[in-house]
Formats: sequence, C-alpha cells, structure tokens
Amino acid sequence: KVLKVALMGLGSYANRVADAMRDCKRAKITGVISGTPSKIKDWQGRFNIPDKNCYNYENFDAIKDNPDIDAVYIITPNALHHPQALRVAAAGKHVICEKPMSINAQEGREMIEVCKKAGVHLLIGYRMHFEANTLEIVRMRREGELGTIRFFQGLSGFKIGDPTQWRLNRELAGGGAMMDIGIYAINGARYMVGEEPIWVTAQEVKTDPVKFREGVDETITFQLGFPSGAIASCLSTYNMNYLDKFYLNGDKGFAEMQPSTGYGPIRSWTHKGRLDLPHVTHQTTQMDEMAAIILDGKKAIIPVDGEEGWKDMVIIDAIFESIRTGKKEEITYV
Ligand code: NAD
Repeated sequence: KVLKVALMGLGSYANRVADAMRDCKRAKITGVISGTPSKIKDWQGRFNIPDKNCYNYENFDAIKDNPDIDAVYIITPNALHHPQALRVAAAGKHVICEKPMSINAQEGREMIEVCKKAGVHLLIGYRMHFEANTLEIVRMRREGELGTIRFFQGLSGFKIGDPTQWRLNRELAGGGAMMDIGIYAINGARYMVGEEPIWVTAQEVKTDPVKFREGVDETITFQLGFPSGAIASCLSTYNMNYLDKFYLNGDKGFAEMQPSTGYGPIRSWTHKGRLDLPHVTHQTTQMDEMAAIILDGKKAIIPVDGEEGWKDMVIIDAIFESIRTGKKEEITYV
C-alpha cells in the first residue's frame, strides 16, 4: 500500500520534497493545495495530478470526500501550520507538518489534541530523524559506546537574504532564526543527548535592527541543562553561513557531525574513526518512513510525532522567556 499525499504550499521546500518523493516506494503525490493557479497547473503537469485533486486555501476542506488523498503535507509559513493542521484534521486526513510545528507550545498542544480526537496521525517534518549518520550516532550513544554523556554543542545558522521574505515577518514566521534554523540545534540536543532539557539560559545579539525587527531574532546563544547533569551550548543565527555542526561528548568518547543537518551528505566521525555513511536524499527516506508509520504502525527510532514537535516549542518558548527576563528558566513539559 502507498500513502497518497497532497502537498499544501508549493514553495521552495515543497519543490524539494516533491522531487525527492519521485524515488519513494511507499509515498506518492496525488494532490496539491495552493493559492496560485499557475503553480497548480505546473505541478499537475510535473506530477500527473488530475483536476479533481487540486484545491486552494478556500476550498480544501473538501478533501474530506476525496479517497485519492490520505494525508496532507503542510509546507507553508510557520504561523499558518496551526490553523491549516486543524482544518486537515477536521477533514479526517493525516497531517504531516513542517517544522516548527507552530509558533508556540500552546498552539502545538492544540494541534496534538485535535488530531488525536479526529483519529489522524500528526507527524512533524524532522527529516534528520531518519538519516543514517544521525541514527548510527544515536545507536552508539544508546549502547554506551560514548560512555556517560556530558556535553553537546549545536551550531545552526545561515545568512538570510531578501529582507521582504516571510521568514523576517514576525506575523508569518513567529520569530526569526530560532524558529527556522535554531530549532535544529534544540532538536539535535535532545536526540543526541537522549534526554529532555530541564532548564535554559539564553542571550540575544542583534547587529541589524532594521532587517531583524522587533520579535525577529537574528542571533541567539543558549545553554540547556539535562536531568543527568549533561549540558548543551548552542547557537542560532541568520547572520553566518557554514554554521551547521553537532558535537557530542561523553566520558568515553565523542561524535561530531559537520554538516549535521544540511540537505547534502552528512560528514561524521567519532573517537573510533570516520563514519560518513552513504547519503540518501533525506526527504525520500523521510516520506517512505512516514508512510510506514501511518500505514503499518511502524515506530520511528527517533520520534517524529506531535509530542516531539511540541517539546521543541516548549523549549523555544523558554528560550524567549529567558531572553526577556535575563534569567535561567525552568523548562516544564505541561
Ligand atoms: P517558501 O516561501 O519557499 O514557500 C512557502 C509557500 O507557502 C509559498 O509557495 C507561498 O506561496 C505559500 N503561502 C501560502 N500562504 C501564504 C501566505 N499567507 N504568505 C506567504 N506565503 C504563503 O518557504 P519554504 O522555504 O518552502 O518554507 C515553508 C515551510 O517549510 C516553513 O515552515 C519552513 O520552516 C519549512 N522548511 C523545512 C525545511 C526542512 O528541511 N525540514 C526546509 C525548508 C523549509
């Protein structure tokens, strides 16, 4: 059985996902949802999508009656994920939603509850959770090959261009670099250390307050504390290229990845030598694995469900709170 997926929002990442899905064995694009008729026409040609599976943002609730669509993959600006996910769930379809799942923990929680009530899956687009180097390091850590984990460093950033894009608009982005790219360091800290952080301290720096307006963060450093005593030191920025590195150290060994979350091959090594496991387009593996989760009830090694996305939102809320108060903030998952 194949998972029949409609993509919502036909922007740059949707194009990447769609191209990667050409090689999927378990997932297939069967529909599109877009506000731009010319894009729909183009996609219909590229992916052989019939008129009856094309929708816009006004009429997509009608997917309810369309057996050609099992799931909708939401790939729109961050602030739209929450209202759109609620509508997809109301139509009785599974929700696959890009990161960040929402723009705060409260909205994320509501998405989880609504999907649960509707009896549909809610999966978050964490493509690294299926990546071979990442999984091998997580295996090594779980099996004690690094010893007791003491420290993680996560550096995530890129230099952002066009000042008019939605990523620099607080209403659509819900913030700045942290929501978009810093979330990789947060999420990575959690799956590399293998625990949920219980406190955070954070500091913000802004070199360009015109481009990065109120509520749109440019650069944030933050520190996380874990129940075991492990600590993490992380950086999120929209003002540096080539910032994509994870480093994990235990009392017996280390693992390092650079790049750690980029689209291309992940380069990795440990105290035992180089890993550099072969590259498979992340989104191809992700969509095949998500199809197996939805269709077969397969369990992901690193979860990609709503709870997983929500924990990152709880931490982002706490990071923003720590910047506001200038104090160490407890992180509570309630
Ligand atoms: P994009 O700007 O290229 O595409 C966004 C799409 O949403 C566009 O087609 C736009 O027309 C559409 N849209 C619908 N309603 C809109 C509105 N009211 N305002 C503006 N645009 C609207 O952005 P993108 O890079 O494709 O990012 C989309 C989502 O995917 C974001 O949530 C982002 O975080 C996520 N993303 C994830 C990854 C990943 O590796 N997992 C990578 C890139 C982006």
